[in-house]
This record gives sequence, C-alpha cells and structure tokens, in this order.
Amino acid sequence: MKFVSINPANNETIEAFETQSKVETLELVKLADQAYRSWRTTTFDQRKEVVIAFASLLRQRVDDLAQIITREMGKRISESRREVEFCAQIAEFYANGAESFLANQQLETADADVFIRFEPIGVLLGVMPWNYPFYQVTRFAAPNIMAGNAVMVKHAENVPRCAQVIADLFDECRLPSGVYTNLFIPTSFVEAIVSDIRVQGVSLTGSERAGAAVASLAGKNLKRSVLELGGNDPFIVLEDADMDATVEFAVKGRMANTGQSCVAAKRFIVVKSVADEFLAKFKQAMSVLKIGDPMDDDTTVAPLSTEQAAVALSEQVQASVDAGATVLLGGDRPARPGAYFNPTILTDVTPGMPTYDQELFGPVATVYVVDDEEAAIQLANDSSYGLGGSIYTRDIDRGQRIAERIESGMIFINQPTTSQADLPFGGVKNSGYGRELSHLGILEFVNKKLVHLG
Ligand code: NAP
Repeated sequence: MKFVSINPANNETIEAFETQSKVETLELVKLADQAYRSWRTTTFDQRKEVVIAFASLLRQRVDDLAQIITREMGKRISESRREVEFCAQIAEFYANGAESFLANQQLETADADVFIRFEPIGVLLGVMPWNYPFYQVTRFAAPNIMAGNAVMVKHAENVPRCAQVIADLFDECRLPSGVYTNLFIPTSFVEAIVSDIRVQGVSLTGSERAGAAVASLAGKNLKRSVLELGGNDPFIVLEDADMDATVEFAVKGRMANTGQSCVAAKRFIVVKSVADEFLAKFKQAMSVLKIGDPMDDDTTVAPLSTEQAAVALSEQVQASVDAGATVLLGGDRPARPGAYFNPTILTDVTPGMPTYDQELFGPVATVYVVDDEEAAIQLANDSSYGLGGSIYTRDIDRGQRIAERIESGMIFINQPTTSQADLPFGGVKNSGYGRELSHLGILEFVNKKLVHLG
C-alpha cells in the first residue's frame, strides 16, 4: 500500500510514499517509548529550545510550506500561509507557557502540605485529518512535546508530503529521535498501537465515524482519549443584527478553507423579519466569488481536498434537492478539471435530508427562516453535533443570554467561530470531548499526581 499525494486542483498525481509494515510500526512504538523515558527528564528550557526552533523554521519557510499544503490538499495559498504562521504561534504559545501551565499546584488543606504535580504520561498517538494538515498536528504535538510526552502521528492518507515535512522539521530542530514519529500506516494498524502497553493515549481529529472507532479502541484498552470531531455550527441572525457586517461574516464563516472546516458556519438560521434582506445580500456576496487555481492570490474559491470529497458533496446536495430542497445559488460542479464545487445556497431544507442531518464539508450553506429568537435556539440545538456557533445581534446582553442556551463547546457573538492558540477548542455531543489549545490543551495527557508531604 502507498500513500499518494494528488493535486486536487487538477487531479494529477504528485508523488507516492511507501507505508510501514506492522512489524516496523511496532518497532517505532518501542523507539518512541525509549525516547519518552529520556525526554521526560529534560527541563522546560531544553524542550523550549526545540519547540521555538520549530516555530522559527515555520516562519522562515512559510512560503515553501504553504505551497506544499496548497499543492497537496488544495487550500488557497493565502490560507496556507496563515495556517503555517498560526502553527508558529501555537508552538511559541506552548514553548513559552508550558512551565507555568504545568507548575505545581498547591492545595489548601488544614493539616498537611499537599500539592499536585503535572507529569508526562508516555507515548501518545495522534490520528489527524487533512483539512488543516499543519495546524491539526501542531496543536496536538506542541503541547505534548512541551509536557514531556512522545508523540506518534498517523496523518490522513491524502497529505503524506505534509506529514513527512512536519517530521523533517522536528528532526532539523534536533528533537531527539523518537519523540516525534511520523507513521505512514493504514487505519487498520491503529488498533495495534492503541492496545500497546507502551502507548498511554490517543487524540483523534476527524469524522464521527473515525472518532467512534478510535474511542472504542481506547475504551477497550483503558487509554485516555481526546476527540475533536465534526460540527454543524449554527449562525443565528437576529432582527437587530448589523446586516452588512453579518453577511460578510456569513461568507467568511462558510467559505474559509472552501467550507472544509469543522467550525465553519454551516446552518444559517435567520429570523423572518430580516430573512429577505439576508438572503438577497448573502446570495449576491456568494455569487461574486471566483473559482480558480488555489496558487493564485486572486482566487476566492479553491477546490475541495479530493475528487471523492467533491463527489460526496454533490450526492448530499442532489439527494436533498430530490427530497424538496430549493437551490438559491449553485448546487453543482463547474465544468473544469479538479475537485471543484460551486458556492451554493440551499433553502427549504428539512429534517431527513442529508443537508439537514449531516455535516456539509464544502461551500454549501443551508439557510433556515424562523419566526423568532426562541425558534432559532430550538433549531440551533436540533443537531447531533455541538462544536461551535455564532450569534449576530447589536444587543450583547441578548447575545449572551442566547449563548448560554446553545449546546456547543464554543460560541461567538458577532463573529464566526475561530481558533486561537490561547483559546480552548473542542465540542460537546457528537462533536467529541476534551479540549485542545490554551492552558487546557496541555492538561489532557498529563498525570495530575497528588503529592502529600506527611
Ligand atoms: P476522517 O475520515 O475521519 O479521517 C481523519 C483521520 O482518521 C485520518 O487520519 C483517517 O485516516 C483516520 N481514520 C479514519 N477512519 C479511521 C478508523 N476507523 N480508525 C482509525 N483511524 C481512522 O475525517 P476527514 O474526512 O479526514 O476529516 C474531516 C472531518 O474532521 C470532519 O468531520 C471535520 O468536521 C472533522 N474535523 C474536526 C475538527 C475539530 O477540531 N473538531 C477539526 C478538523 C476536522 P485515513 O485518511 O487513512 O482514512
């Protein structure tokens, strides 16, 4: 088996990578465990030197790395550059903050000197998706390397060049061999790794299906797990919203990464008194977007990550249209090579349609018109997912009251959900559990050891 890198802008094969055998994989686990036993004894300053060097390399090579991302998974080149820079920020955030995030925590007790020590736990497996191929890996690797753990990464099969380059960068920063290991393995090997006694935890970012499979392996083997899964985020527009700003955010929120973001705005829920205005302005803004080569800075709509992704999205849309959904804009693929899909707006979407029940990973917005705020909240919560969401109103107190009632891990008022190194990221319901980024992200895979001094 090989991992093949295909440029989704033209569907041409770029290169292929050999996968490792199971025997080789388990040998790498052994090496990772040996590396961990030494790495856990290093000081924060020693770890910081490596992780800061990693951030510096990302910054120095931002243009080259961005081209690798865009060529392999199709993201617009400006978004690839931002992704690489964001990874540098995340690495610096943990390099500079880990020592204080993991400082001993004194407990107030009446009769003894008691504190909590935060210790590394061992080798961890990260199973990562292709949509932000550098960011997903960095937000898992940087905190855990700073915590003293060793990480192994099984990246998505369509981004092997990104996977290899990240490993090469850590090598170049003189991270001891085995503290970061890139695995080119099929998903069927994940079980052997998670069940290995030397592996202490697994973090998966990806679909519900993959999350459930890995969570059950983790449960069966009593391993810690973090799951960052899909989302179907609501974007609630109230009658007192600043409409022009809201429409701009609606386009950005849906179209970032060509709609292939777990926290993209996916369900636009608009109160009826402003629905006509929103729909007219949103349609106008979506219709002027320009499909093109993702390497070209003028392009505003890039291809999806793979031909299969474009086909799957077409099927979700077509099945919904067959069941009665209305296409206000787009709804199909442009007549050009590559994994493209036209910016699309659907209305009259109802429960039972794929576009209501499932996550749409592409440039397809569903718009729902509701009577009032209460109906908006009900609809927002009528989802198996609970990742992010956003609310648009000039009344911040009102926005906050609604925010308290939305079933999600993150909620933003007057801007789409976004990710930042110092903000916790994660969901509830079928969007997963655990948190990444911020001070919380580094606490997921550490032993909170109680020390009682007599
Ligand atoms: P995916 O198919 O679930 O793949 C994600 C990773 O899981 C890949 O490395 C994949 O390997 C692996 N995988 C798939 N099935 C597996 C199994 N049964 N056992 C072990 N590993 C398995 O997801 P995707 O289509 O690449 O990514 C899109 C999904 O990720 C969306 O649902 C999106 O919302 C979600 N996502 C969530 C977040 C978040 O932070 N919450 C962030 C980004 C994306 P192969 O590639 O080899 O199949």
